[in-house]
Amino acid sequence: MNDIRLQGIGMTSRRTRDRLIVRLREQNIQDEKVLAVIKETPRHIFIDEALAHRAYEDTALPISFNQTISQPYIVAKMTEVLLAGGPLKHVLEVGTGSGYQTAILAQLVEQVFSVERIKPLQDKARHRFRQMGLKNIRLQHTDGGMGWSSKAPFDGIMVTAAPQEIPEELLAQLAIGGRLVIPVGQEQQQLKLVVRVNVRDYDTRIIENVRFVPLLAGTIQ
Ligand code: SAH
Repeated sequence: MNDIRLQGIGMTSRRTRDRLIVRLREQNIQDEKVLAVIKETPRHIFIDEALAHRAYEDTALPISFNQTISQPYIVAKMTEVLLAGGPLKHVLEVGTGSGYQTAILAQLVEQVFSVERIKPLQDKARHRFRQMGLKNIRLQHTDGGMGWSSKAPFDGIMVTAAPQEIPEELLAQLAIGGRLVIPVGQEQQQLKLVVRVNVRDYDTRIIENVRFVPLLAGTIQ
């Protein structure tokens, strides 16, 4: 990654990124592997150039189509919670969006399968993964509420848009011992961790209150 666009200058420089890591530690993100990957990942390439100078602020930012790139703290928290059970091989992400969360996951697990309902967002994300040289990401343009059944079971599933209730399909596509991290609710949303204990039983824990865009049905070309 020695290209100047990837490295960043000024407000997208290394020092600015270091400050973000300090802030994430202050907010109690403890997984060193997660912190290291966030530190090395150029968030500014996942944002429109006009906003790139704000890439390392700990805030969500607009991408196109009324969507947002998640706040770094939330990306860090969800990744930490997903990985807390041990290394993951086969991970599904619902809501590729800018691809930032996808890129973080791809550096921490063996293979990421990510689905997005808005085609132009997916196309941009694919270009960014190429720029970063990430090769362990498979993308699909689909309604991710249905999961990705041909690639199931997953030992981790991360959802980055909020349904009103956890989709049954996602629960069914979780491996035994697998972990699902998902925001749930409308106005009041809670980030939940669901662990599949055995074929029938799931253990659910509330992590914290969050605010995500809604998980919507159907696709946009
Ligand atoms: N992790 C992304 C978050 C983007 S916002 C990032 O940091 O950039 C959530 C994304 O979920 C949006 O791109 C939205 O289009 C997508 N989304 C919403 N409902 C979906 C669905 N049913 N299937 C797939 N993607 C969906």
